[in-house]
Amino acid sequence: MAQRYEGGCLCGAIRYAVEAAPINERICHCRLCQKALGAAFNARLLFRVDDVTLSGPVATVNSSPPLQRGFCRNCGTTIFSRREAAGIMGLTSGSLDDPSLFRPEMHFHTASRQPWVKLDDGLPQYEGAPPV
Ligand SMILES: [Zn+2]
Ligand SMILES: [Zn+2]
Repeated sequence: MAQRYEGGCLCGAIRYAVEAAPINERICHCRLCQKALGAAFNARLLFRVDDVTLSGPVATVNSSPPLQRGFCRNCGTTIFSRREAAGIMGLTSGSLDDPSLFRPEMHFHTASRQPWVKLDDGLPQYEGAPPV
């Protein structure tokens, strides 16, 4: 049985649950993620959109044409980044009820990594997009 992932936003209006193994778990250091989350990087778990059950007042904004960022209309918590055409969405690890479930596999877009972020976890690092 797959691990169950549950989470939501700061105010509790948005809740989500997933009962599937993540496609991957990665940390993105790109500027768009930094801006969208107001943070140094985006540690996210990628799932198939169809595997995620989400409820609440979600608002979305496109940070680039194919990528939608989903956040809570009430409290502003960033919940996901979604590529509708590909049917995938990355859930922010910080919005998990238990963020320690996050098991990062790699860092990417490290060209825009913040200089004070020291990566000594031994994970692969890619300056741009990871290889497919
Ligand atoms: Zn909220
Ligand atoms: Zn990014």
